[in-house]
Amino acid sequence: MPDVFADLVGQDDAVDTLRRAAASAAAVLRHAAAVHAAATAGPVDDDLDALAAEVEAEAEDAGNPVDPGAGMTHAWIFTGPPGSGRSVAARAFAAALQCVRGTGCGECPGCHTTLAGTHADVRLVVPEGLSIGVGEMRALVLRAASTPSGGRWQVVIIEDADRLTEAAGNALLKAVEEPPPRTVFLLCAPSTHPDDISVTIRSRCRVVPLRQPPAAAVAEVLARRDGVAPDVAAWAAAAAQGHVGWARRLARDPEARQRRDAVLAVPRRLTGVGAAFDAASALIEAAEAEAAASVAEIDEAERAALQTALGAGGTGRGAAGAMRGAAGQLKDLEKRQKSRATRAQRDALDRALVDLAGFYRDAVTAALGAPVAPVHADTAALAEAGARKWHAEGALRRLEAVLECRAAIEANVKQRIAVEAMMLTLWKG
Ligand SMILES: [Zn+2]
Repeated sequence: MPDVFADLVGQDDAVDTLRRAAASAAAVLRHAAAVHAAATAGPVDDDLDALAAEVEAEAEDAGNPVDPGAGMTHAWIFTGPPGSGRSVAARAFAAALQCVRGTGCGECPGCHTTLAGTHADVRLVVPEGLSIGVGEMRALVLRAASTPSGGRWQVVIIEDADRLTEAAGNALLKAVEEPPPRTVFLLCAPSTHPDDISVTIRSRCRVVPLRQPPAAAVAEVLARRDGVAPDVAAWAAAAAQGHVGWARRLARDPEARQRRDAVLAVPRRLTGVGAAFDAASALIEAAEAEAAASVAEIDEAERAALQTALGAGGTGRGAAGAMRGAAGQLKDLEKRQKSRATRAQRDALDRALVDLAGFYRDAVTAALGAPVAPVHADTAALAEAGARKWHAEGALRRLEAVLECRAAIEANVKQRIAVEAMMLTLWKG
């Protein structure tokens, strides 16, 4: 049976660090339990130190050496490119901390409930909008300070910690600066650059850098865990450029493959100014359609749940006030859903831009005769034709245009303006 770190693809160093930390966290708990037992068993004396040593020796005997340099700490940041497995690593580590048998056996109730998202002492923040607000963060920090009901650790996982608002960041900083004794914060962010995570929060955390997993490792996990045929797995892993989740979708979802095909057809279609503008519209609209499809189901479920909750209103003196409250809740929900849709559309467009960048990267490497495998094996011939026409310089200019477009959208330039400018460069060079 694979343990909780099995899905963390190609990250041996990080897994090693996390395993050691989990072992040392388990030793801390054993130590505390032993101290407690000694304290309640009778008069406490100098034997406590001896007892602690005994506990550590026990931990070593159990194969969990307590290495002070690789020990446990209460705040962590997982960094790495999208798809490298930041949140997978955070969840796996949370499971390892809650594991009642070892350091993430994958089978015990602690591991199981953590991975299933139902452990009472593991809270997960997945921002659905473009940022995490201060209200959400304060509530979270408050709950994180309570005593873990399972007697181990209170774990708070914050995905996309780079999307914290400044006020929310400050609320988090306070908790990280004066952490409750049994609380562990696990943050996920693309990097430790000050744009992603404030310097003060960073200075309180231990960083676990993840790398872009090699395609072979991604293909292996698709085949082993998801039962994807090896040739399809290899193709999807290369096409997804190390993004594990995207590779899985490409391997399993025909619509995702169609969308990718449409994106990779763009370079061929750029035959003039009009075509460039058409391609820009098509790219943006495709991202909108994909986003709408991805949020539709959950939006509807949320609306239905809220209406059911509000339907219990009834009539009477309090009814008018209740109606006003209901309108407010409905408005809140709509705002949240809109913000989630915006983010889904941005993510979909970014995905498309990464695919396009892969194509022009293939053209650059072809023009240079570099001995590396293409990102998109299925459009390699087209990229080679482009390379002959544009030469390395022209291919590089086009690749840069795609990357600049991503950066511009990240910096809140209007999508249409950024994508149109990119398409014109992709056409003219
Ligand atoms: Zn376990």
